[in-house]
Amino acid sequence: MKYLLGCCGRIVETDNMPVWCIRCGEHRIKVTEFTEDTMLPCPFCGGHPQAEAMNTIGLYWYECDDCGGASGSADDWVEARKKWNERK
Ligand SMILES: [Zn+2]
Ligand SMILES: [Zn+2]
Repeated sequence: MKYLLGCCGRIVETDNMPVWCIRCGEHRIKVTEFTEDTMLPCPFCGGHPQAEAMNTIGLYWYECDDCGGASGSADDWVEARKKWNERK
């Protein structure tokens, strides 16, 4: 399983849900399961990504609700999600 650590936003791969962060040394951190469908918050403002698409030409991307920061466009949602999540 992959888990997203609330303290520093790292993604770790372990069998059991982590209860503390090795990097931060913080306990009782907020941990969420990270799946293919998980969308990270906006790296600029922490806002929520909004799905955008131009179906006519088959372009898909995500755009931040708050600051309008966008991921690169991709050919499908899976790729667009990846681009959004990997953006720093
Ligand atoms: Zn941490
Ligand atoms: Zn934003």
